[in-house]
Amino acid sequence: MIHKLSQKNLLSKKHTQRYRQCFALNRNVAGFNILKKELIYTLVSDKSDGAFIWDIDNNKYIDLTMGFGSILFGHNYTPIRKEIETQLAKSWSVGPISPLAGKLAEKITAITKTERVAFFNSGTEAVMVAVRIAKAVTKKKYVVFFKGAYHGTFDPLLTLKKNPQTNMAQESIPGITQSILNESYIFDYGSEESLNFIKKNKDHIAAVLVEPVQSRNPSFQPVSFLKELRSVTEQSDIALIFDEVITGFRIDIGGCQKLFNILADIVTYGKVIGGGLPIGIVAGKSKFLDVIDGGAWQYGDQSFPEVKSTFVAGTFCHHPLAMAASLKTLEILESSNGELLQEINLRTAYFCTRMNEFFKENYPKLSMVHFGSLFRFVTPGRYKELYSQLLLNGVYVWEGRNCFLSAAHTEEIITSLEDKIKLSCRQLAEQGIIKLKE
Ligand code: PMP
Repeated sequence: MIHKLSQKNLLSKKHTQRYRQCFALNRNVAGFNILKKELIYTLVSDKSDGAFIWDIDNNKYIDLTMGFGSILFGHNYTPIRKEIETQLAKSWSVGPISPLAGKLAEKITAITKTERVAFFNSGTEAVMVAVRIAKAVTKKKYVVFFKGAYHGTFDPLLTLKKNPQTNMAQESIPGITQSILNESYIFDYGSEESLNFIKKNKDHIAAVLVEPVQSRNPSFQPVSFLKELRSVTEQSDIALIFDEVITGFRIDIGGCQKLFNILADIVTYGKVIGGGLPIGIVAGKSKFLDVIDGGAWQYGDQSFPEVKSTFVAGTFCHHPLAMAASLKTLEILESSNGELLQEINLRTAYFCTRMNEFFKENYPKLSMVHFGSLFRFVTPGRYKELYSQLLLNGVYVWEGRNCFLSAAHTEEIITSLEDKIKLSCRQLAEQGIIKLKE
């Protein structure tokens, strides 16, 4: 397999080697294993359309990465591209505020049942600001989050290690020092222990940050725990932050808030809404968003921004191209009346069911889990080689292994995908890497 894949991805590998000296990219060492080093590189691609990408060797792949979940309608989707092109012809500069930003804020608040919205450039930034405003409003310090979640690369959330006695986050990555983690507490997701800790330490906890359904563990959907969390945080003046960077505008136009009928205090969004352009959004109750600008006031009377503000900013926040693409995304989603998302979700569910039947019968150690249109292969041990075999057979899954179907993944493409998965399993078995009915 190593030889065949190296041949197929010749230019991707050459490119990786050519620029490694000057271009530091950790994706090029993800899962590094000296015995498998020839398979450690990330695909280099400059063309995508619909459900497909092409690498620089001009190989075509069914894309399951879909911009890490930022592409919902398919790559190069004409209505989004046209919107970006139209805006590009007008202006792609920042400085004065784009007239699209207010319009987008209004739309988001209406769709997500939030009161106010602020724009940033990435999910990480949105999470960072969400935590900051929670601390500013509650005037408390601690943040509780959960093992298995991914909230981006904001330093106080960058570890999953904890002190087993205190549950305080513990340093595990060079550069993320303990003092940065001293206000962060980690618990098993869904645990009674976390609820007890929150109740007991309510006077110190500013926020509970939760990825309602963790992208790394999508089959765990603890609705009753989330409801309990909502009730405990509400009674304790703790901000409940839903990180819906993946689930927002994907599982439902109203995200997990709508699906589970739980209103958080602050919600972060990103990915899908940007239509493929960089965006991060903090939405939520005025009580929290007001610390960004002092709250609402009017001209022509005695009103003024009464709330003491913290500070947020960013050169590219409200970038006009991202605003235009986001507005178009919402317009498309709204005009489909929920059907588009429902269809992608259903298609993913059927696909996973069919694959699980196949796996159960033939390769019982393999399985698939999903939440809406997000899915993952469950690949213990040697079964991880499935991803390289899939690449060889024309299916692209990035190193983080979160997979997504989009509106462009038609039944026909999914059938072809299923054939490629089955073929890959068979080939792995022929090479003795996995075993039939093991
Ligand atoms: N929160 C969640 C739930 C995410 O999945 C991600 C990114 N995958 C982030 C935050 C960070 O977003 P970004 O990569 O845009 O910074």
